[in-house]
Amino acid sequence: MAVSQNNHRKSDLPNPHGVAPPVLVVEDNELNMRLFTDILENFGYPVVGCVDGELAMNFLQDNTPGLIIMDIQLPGMSGVECTKKIKASERLRTVPVVAVTAFALDGDEARFRAAGCDDYMPKPINVAAFREIVARHYMSVVQSA
Ligand code: MN
Repeated sequence: MAVSQNNHRKSDLPNPHGVAPPVLVVEDNELNMRLFTDILENFGYPVVGCVDGELAMNFLQDNTPGLIIMDIQLPGMSGVECTKKIKASERLRTVPVVAVTAFALDGDEARFRAAGCDDYMPKPINVAAFREIVARHYMSVVQSA
């Protein structure tokens, strides 16, 4: 599991001095992972990255993030399948899931939302829109695992 932690810049965090739950980024593309992680850390969020759905589900067994950025096209379990599992869990179902995907076909957004995704963002991402969507959905206080 690719993991990076950065707690020293907190510009977007509601409670900069508390212990903030991480944003979980599930993304198999190395460049996108780097991009999302850099942006999130720059805005002050702790970030945990997982390169596939299985690793993400393993992480989620013992951790409750404040937000999940979910790539849809993943090796193995898809982002849609992962989201369905997350939303079937009593502990995890309140964690916002934002789907991020290059799919831009009619009906895709509806499919992601039907799986339980709380929001949707097409790739390539716009940094300002990404920041806004993360700030809007991020939960600074989460249930303990
Ligand atoms: Mn992908």
